[in-house]
Amino acid sequence: MLTLALSKGRIFEETMPMLERAGISIAENPDTTRKLIIKTSHPNLQIIIVRASDVPTYVQFGAADIGVAGKDVLLENGIEGLYVPIDLGIAKCRMSVATKEGFDYNSAVKQGARLRIASKYVQCAREHFANKGVHADIIKLYGSMELAPLVGLADAIVDLVSTGSTLKANQLVEVETIMQISAQLIVNQAAHKRHRSEMQEFLDAFALAAEN
Ligand code: ATP
Ligand code: MG
Repeated sequence: MLTLALSKGRIFEETMPMLERAGISIAENPDTTRKLIIKTSHPNLQIIIVRASDVPTYVQFGAADIGVAGKDVLLENGIEGLYVPIDLGIAKCRMSVATKEGFDYNSAVKQGARLRIASKYVQCAREHFANKGVHADIIKLYGSMELAPLVGLADAIVDLVSTGSTLKANQLVEVETIMQISAQLIVNQAAHKRHRSEMQEFLDAFALAAEN
């Protein structure tokens, strides 16, 4: 039996069609069941439902054999012990810097100002500003990053943006794109060695679904 770790929401919703293309369906919907272990129609595959940021942890420790995690999560968490064979091209968004409307970000950067940056993505934010040679004090938040510039907690935020409507609703503007983000298939390296033949069927199915 192989275990696939997924998070509820967009990762689950966008991964399911990929499994369905391989003829695999699920017995229960994670939005309506309280169960955290979900059987599939495939006798050798079960799904566990975990927080998005916990997916790499379950796979690194071998509690799940494979998982689907955003590039953002992998960059923050690290990929020790993981094999990342397929960019699934789902749950797409970008990681960007945003400020309050009217804040002159480019001038602040040019003048070498010290910026206060609020983010859930502290590693990515730190690396981005270090590469630009900008002095940045990073403040770790766990959610609602959009609020930080509005109440003076930070000059800017580093957050994920897809349509930009949340930024707009809060009078924020995207001033710089850091990178494009999509979900990646991750595999426990040891499990991959041990169960190579059992796993290959699923890796092939994901690779095929990702191409389409
Ligand atoms: P949690 O809700 O458990 O705190 P999360 O907000 O990271 O975690 P989701 O909102 O389900 O969980 O996002 C999962 C992944 O989807 C993200 O890690 C990211 O890779 C991707 N994603 C795509 N678009 C967006 C977006 N607009 N906002 C946030 N994440 C997005
Ligand atoms: Mg969320």
